[in-house]
Amino acid sequence: MQHYWLVIKRGLIRRCPKCGKGHIFNGYLRLVPECLECGESFRNIRSDDAAPWATVLFVGHLAAWMIGNMVKGDISAMNLILIVLIFVLSAAGITLPIMKGVFVNLNWISGLRYADPSDPNEQI
Ligand SMILES: [Zn+2]
Repeated sequence: MQHYWLVIKRGLIRRCPKCGKGHIFNGYLRLVPECLECGESFRNIRSDDAAPWATVLFVGHLAAWMIGNMVKGDISAMNLILIVLIFVLSAAGITLPIMKGVFVNLNWISGLRYADPSDPNEQI
């Protein structure tokens, strides 16, 4: 269980689950093929839809709480929509790579790998 928390923490800062030093993303969301520090391969690790779903769940709850508090005050509908739209887009943009880092690292520690079609030794 100790290792899971360590790997989750490394995913939150988008670092390699094995060494914690190398970055797991090359850009915004693209996974590096292997860690530049320790050489661990990420070629057949994906997070699929888990990261976007977790992002929607997290940001959606924050936005609902925010809307609930804002409608109690005196704010026009247009201002409310504008503020919530800016908040949701910003929060989702920040949260998505963090969630993807966590799910990639959880897949790594769980041993969940996808078949690599370019590998001739691997049967699909
Ligand atoms: Zn590494």
